[in-house]
Amino acid sequence: MRRACVIGWPLAHSRSPVIHRFWLRELGIEGDYVAVPVEPPKIGTFLAEFPRSGFVGANVTIPHKQAAFAAVAEADPVARATGAVNTLWLDSGRLMGANTDAEGFIASLDEQAPGWDRVGGGALILGAGGAARAIAWGLRNRGMEVTVANRTPARADELAAHLGTGVTAGRWSDIPALLAGSRLLVNATPLGLPGHPALDIDLAPLASDAIVVDIVYVPLKTPLLAAAEARGLKTVDGLGMLLHQAVPGFERWFGKRPRVTPALRAAVIADLDAH
Ligand code: NAP
Repeated sequence: MRRACVIGWPLAHSRSPVIHRFWLRELGIEGDYVAVPVEPPKIGTFLAEFPRSGFVGANVTIPHKQAAFAAVAEADPVARATGAVNTLWLDSGRLMGANTDAEGFIASLDEQAPGWDRVGGGALILGAGGAARAIAWGLRNRGMEVTVANRTPARADELAAHLGTGVTAGRWSDIPALLAGSRLLVNATPLGLPGHPALDIDLAPLASDAIVVDIVYVPLKTPLLAAAEARGLKTVDGLGMLLHQAVPGFERWFGKRPRVTPALRAAVIADLDAH
């Protein structure tokens, strides 16, 4: 029986077991997917021993994505661009890594806002952490001009320098002017999560055909998305990205490409509501 897992610390928040077990059941695959909490000091040993662990692969979550990148024999282009791996698998006993956040983000946009890349104008990403890096890579690869604004400006500068052509750093204080030139706004900060303040920006400068995306998915309708809806703007929540980023790993480990369906979405929402 093939077994995969998610590794992180702490792991109580992870919805990955719900997603992958849903697909195993739906596709009638005899496999398992479990949560394996790995304390930060033990991650090096865990990854070094992974080929002998009995697992066929793993998802990697906070705070181990950089350690996973450092441990793999080969990494895909997004992992190399972000310095972070969220999906591991074995190839002839060698540990391989990918970062599927860009693919998950773009697939979610394609699903929830088809035609998003034909509206013209640029994208404004708020935040310059790991998720913002992957999203900037994905949007740039679909031909968008991307601006990244971050609370700590040096991190946005570094991100733009690292990704190069098509990605520019903007200033947090310039958000109103940056919004006026954007057709896609993405919150890639934790602002809006429980325990964090809301992302407090005035959406008035955004064009009326702009799309607003929040990758925070707890709550599903963040204050940012509620404000965008109130302005009549198209919105995309963060759950789609979470579901779609899980697809490539499942396909590698269990041999079938799973689908993101309303039933899966409902199962994950029920789990979010229960905890
Ligand atoms: P990260 O690497 O820790 O980066 C966090 C970013 O948010 C940094 O740019 C940070 O700015 C900024 N930030 C934090 N607190 C802020 C504040 N009070 N005001 C302004 N900016 C603030 O985190 P990450 O991995 O990129 O994840 C970011 C968020 O996306 C998390 O909430 C995570 O749950 C969510 N996420 C969702 C998905 C999904 O599938 N939907 C996937 C990945 C991540 P500084 O540089 O100034 O600290």
